[in-house]
Amino acid sequence: MKILVINAGSSSLKYQLFDMANESVLAKGLCERIGIDGRLKHEAAGKDAYIVDTAMKNHADAIKIVLDTLVSDDHGVIGEIGEISAVGHRFVHAGEYFSKSVLITEEVLKRVEECVALAPLHNPPNITGYKACVEVMGKDVPQVAVFDTAFHQTMPNYAYCYGLPYEYYEKYKIRRYGFHGTSHRYVSKRASEMLGNRTDLKIITCHLGNGSSIAAVNGGKSVDTSMGFTPLPGPIMGTRCGDIDPAIVTFLMEKEGLTTKQVDDLMNKKSGALGISGISSDFRDIDAAAAEGNARAALAKEMFCYGVKKLIGAYAAAMGGVDAIVFTAGIGENSTDYRAKMVEGLEYMGAKIDLAANKVRGKDAVVSTDDSRVKILVVPTNEELMIALDTKEVVGS
Ligand code: ADP
Repeated sequence: MKILVINAGSSSLKYQLFDMANESVLAKGLCERIGIDGRLKHEAAGKDAYIVDTAMKNHADAIKIVLDTLVSDDHGVIGEIGEISAVGHRFVHAGEYFSKSVLITEEVLKRVEECVALAPLHNPPNITGYKACVEVMGKDVPQVAVFDTAFHQTMPNYAYCYGLPYEYYEKYKIRRYGFHGTSHRYVSKRASEMLGNRTDLKIITCHLGNGSSIAAVNGGKSVDTSMGFTPLPGPIMGTRCGDIDPAIVTFLMEKEGLTTKQVDDLMNKKSGALGISGISSDFRDIDAAAAEGNARAALAKEMFCYGVKKLIGAYAAAMGGVDAIVFTAGIGENSTDYRAKMVEGLEYMGAKIDLAANKVRGKDAVVSTDDSRVKILVVPTNEELMIALDTKEVVGS
């Protein structure tokens, strides 16, 4: 069975074609600048990378070009489009409607459209990507939606409600949703497998990339997570402020005469590691500058690590203990230094890192000492594979 995974953004579209017989990636790529001019970057297993500037008026054009490339003599990996059994789409927001992946029907689409207000930048391009696939591939190819928010729907109400008048939860559905759910689900599942296929584990998953979120996963279910109504809260991120006192927003708006759009931009695009360091949003740059003695870069690094550590402590308390701490995404998978700093001082709760084992990058590994009661793991995330696996399961059922 071959499954195409699509992640559509406003002017981009990422894809991966999986052969589910061995869960391998046959080809993957990216369409950029859709609606502007258009560029395809395509990689097929065992072939040279292929980059071409080609007009893409809209997402349907992009999908057509992807499909043509997948069957082309030079860069293709399949004989005909009909070999693709199903398409899995990454969708950001399902509100409270879906707690797992679903076959996309008219009814499902209506629900996703209702959630546009909750994810105005993400759900519309996700919908466009789906519609483009139907337009090009026809109605008979099953299309499945895999939502970033779905995994966190198991949070109890005392974890997801905010201390605002309850009527705003009822009226606007203002509550904690959490994001990166597909990643938290994938790495917690993988960690359970690595620790002997136990299903009763209390796991804290740390997805640390440009955007970062931490989740408390008890027995395979998300019970709390650091992102909220939007992907803004949690530790400081590349450009996002993370947790701040909400009263700062109105204070700043008044003092600086900022509009809602300006203050939103400030918190999402000019804050976090970039805002604190004044140098970069990229944690490799922050690291390099801190190592050269830049005090603000060092502060950004310290704040980020402290923010993650504080949440690890909070989630251990929330679950009444922790069996494993899992690191994933760009920083979590690659940075020996950040991981070590984040668990430094957690020996009191039974988490002891093995500095030699921790030298690993980008592969599954246990990096705690043999006598560490809490296992510390590195698990590279694979949201695309998770989407493909869900798609296979939904279509199969
Ligand atoms: P996204 O959230 O966009 O998917 P990634 O998960 O790819 O991002 O993570 C990107 C971040 O990971 C960048 O800030 C990058 O600097 C950081 N990163 C990657 N490798 C390292 C490393 N070895 N040390 C520190 N940070 C790293």
